[in-house]
Amino acid sequence: MRVLVTGAAGFIGSHLAEALADAGHDVTGLDALTGYYDRSLKRNNVDRLAARGIETARLDLAADPLGPVLDGIEGVYHLAAQPGLSPETDRRAFVRNNVRATERLLDALAGHPQLRAFLFASSSSVYGREATAPEDAALAPVSVYGRTKRRAEAIVRARAEPERWDSCVLRLFSVYGPRERPDKLIPKALRCARRGQAFPLFEGSEHHRRSFTYVGDVVEGLVTALDRFPRCAGEVINLGAPSSTSTLRVLERVAEVVGRPLCIERRPARPGDQQCTRACIEKARRLLGFAPTTSLRDGIVREADWVGRTRIG
Ligand code: NAD
Repeated sequence: MRVLVTGAAGFIGSHLAEALADAGHDVTGLDALTGYYDRSLKRNNVDRLAARGIETARLDLAADPLGPVLDGIEGVYHLAAQPGLSPETDRRAFVRNNVRATERLLDALAGHPQLRAFLFASSSSVYGREATAPEDAALAPVSVYGRTKRRAEAIVRARAEPERWDSCVLRLFSVYGPRERPDKLIPKALRCARRGQAFPLFEGSEHHRRSFTYVGDVVEGLVTALDRFPRCAGEVINLGAPSSTSTLRVLERVAEVVGRPLCIERRPARPGDQQCTRACIEKARRLLGFAPTTSLRDGIVREADWVGRTRIG
């Protein structure tokens, strides 16, 4: 199938583009290479994909004409987004890259004759402080990020039906692994441990629990969603580990893997943080046979190896 992956220069998108090509799809990437984190990491991903014969169109979904890149596309994975909870990120970047970009992509796809499947990467953040419930739970996001992802979900679902193609919303949970965004807990902790620097811990966050999910497991679920698309059409599906681990435990694991203690420097609590996420994956098991297998330790070892080989900002 001819598949477009938006956000292909990013962490999950680059892994997904490779896995789709491995599965025999004809993949094109699209990414604006926004400056949210070190662009050299995104350029590395674009180069890695190019070496595999996957081209990435450098286009901004919120501003550029999108017609030509969509020619002949039968499936779209929409991962491009403004992620994160950083208080330094302008609220407008979330609205622009999560809501406006999604609307413009869907506008450009309107009446597209070959399109069959639109898969949208949403987030456990749409649930709110706790994300442990099944997909039909009430949504109460506590961050601008979560609110803009909830809005984008609603736009995707509203547009699919009248356009005669089907959509599937996949809610991802704390994805980690090689190429992870440098602002996230695990790469930040790995970098601090390796350099002997203090790790900045947001007050109270040591007890937060997350459904840490290895990127390879998530990507397997995403690829299967397209393979089994008729079964997933119109569905919202959680994709994450069905267990949760505290921040403190992750920091201990990182210190074990690096073989150095991690000293902690406390920072004021960060608004918008969730208390507990643990993916309820009954539906993903039933529809996709989803069963994440990578242990947190193995995943951190693989990510530590990548961090050791990469200069991350
Ligand atoms: P990422 O920041 O590494 O990738 C997102 C990519 O989108 C970036 O390369 C960025 O340049 C691109 N982009 C942003 N705005 C764009 C625009 N207007 N036009 C074109 N490209 C644009 O993030 P990621 O961690 O790989 O996340 C991928 C997707 O998965 C996002 O939709 C995110 O909300 C979702 N998600 C991620 C996680 C996680 O733990 N990483 C958890 C839940 C959901």
